[in-house]
Amino acid sequence: MESFEGIKIDPIRHILIDENVLKEVPYILKDLGVRENITVICDQNTYEAAGKEVIEYLKDFDVTLCKFDKAHLVPDERSIGEMILKMNHQSEFLCAVGSGTINDLTRFVSFKTKIPYGIVATAPSMDGYTSSVSPLIVNGFKRTYNAGYPQFVVGDLEVISRAPYDMITSGFGDIIGKYTSLADWMVSNIVNGEKFSEDIANIVRNSIERCVRNVEGIKSRNESVVKNVMDALVLSGIAMLKVGNSRPASGLEHHIAHYIEIKALMNGQIPPLHGSSVGVAEVIATEIYHKVFSLDRNEVQKMIAKAKFESRQEYVERIKRVYGPISNEIFEEVGEFYFDNFEREKRQKQIVEKWDYLKNWVRENVPEPYRIKELLKSIGAPMALKDINVKMNLDEIVKNAKEIRKRYTILRLAEDIGLDV
Ligand SMILES: [Zn+2]
Repeated sequence: MESFEGIKIDPIRHILIDENVLKEVPYILKDLGVRENITVICDQNTYEAAGKEVIEYLKDFDVTLCKFDKAHLVPDERSIGEMILKMNHQSEFLCAVGSGTINDLTRFVSFKTKIPYGIVATAPSMDGYTSSVSPLIVNGFKRTYNAGYPQFVVGDLEVISRAPYDMITSGFGDIIGKYTSLADWMVSNIVNGEKFSEDIANIVRNSIERCVRNVEGIKSRNESVVKNVMDALVLSGIAMLKVGNSRPASGLEHHIAHYIEIKALMNGQIPPLHGSSVGVAEVIATEIYHKVFSLDRNEVQKMIAKAKFESRQEYVERIKRVYGPISNEIFEEVGEFYFDNFEREKRQKQIVEKWDYLKNWVRENVPEPYRIKELLKSIGAPMALKDINVKMNLDEIVKNAKEIRKRYTILRLAEDIGLDV
């Protein structure tokens, strides 16, 4: 198999999201040249959900089982250590059975040990199956580490549609977040000259629309609707692969979600499910979009003329206060880019010049926040910060979330025109 939904998937060799596909795993492994030793990685839940069955199909192989016993597995240095202790180092292949955490851990260990891996997905909960980075928690802080792509992604529809319900709604949250990922990408293209691919953006947009159109089927765990969600999650990973970065699948809504996750970890709490944070963040993100683009061009020009910007000292103090032990990473990531006045003036000029185009694009392509709330509500997914147990104030989140990445988003555009969102 070389393509998925018409897009080439190299270096991922097989993507199979369908009914009754667990039994295909041994054939896929043979096709990949695996002959004998395999380590299967799972936790108690994913062992029951699919691991046991996968192992039964692997009777021609010598299988080592690496099973995590913890009720709440965290992708941290302890779990990596445990996996390295339990796996068979003679393994030719690591077969992960699980979702976010198991996938991130296996991807990272695979990268470090140079043993290839594949994933049997057990929930349509997030879009990391086809990505090449692993977000891990090291010394209590979440950082994103480079890793490699899986050789295969297998999603059995019976297994993934039986996943815990909040994991399914989380996957949907991650998908509708892509409305503003795409909008930020377009904004950066127009304002900042960042490379944009209309084709990739359309593929991602179509996969969001397919999920939105069939949203009612999520509640009844309709297998073909769960397939839509899983396909969209897998596709957005492939879109990132094609573009070479996470642009098509991550914008300000992801920065807000990451900020919520980082802060929860800093306070010793378990962060909400990633896609649940993204869904809630999408309500905030679409509010910001429509607030910014309610302005007309003259208003924007006037605002730019009186805009005042934070001094470097104020910025440094704020970052140290908010990000504490990881502030140096923030300084490194963002660097001097947003203190370059020459660059800022260039962007401001573009913003004014292209304002009407941007405004129209947003009106046509970014749903109103009430629509996002309606969609989340219809499947019983979290819609507001309080639903995911976040007590921080919204201003604090919005002001600081944009600092997580250097990436230009609507939050940076608001800053450029001197608008407090
Ligand atoms: Zn995501």
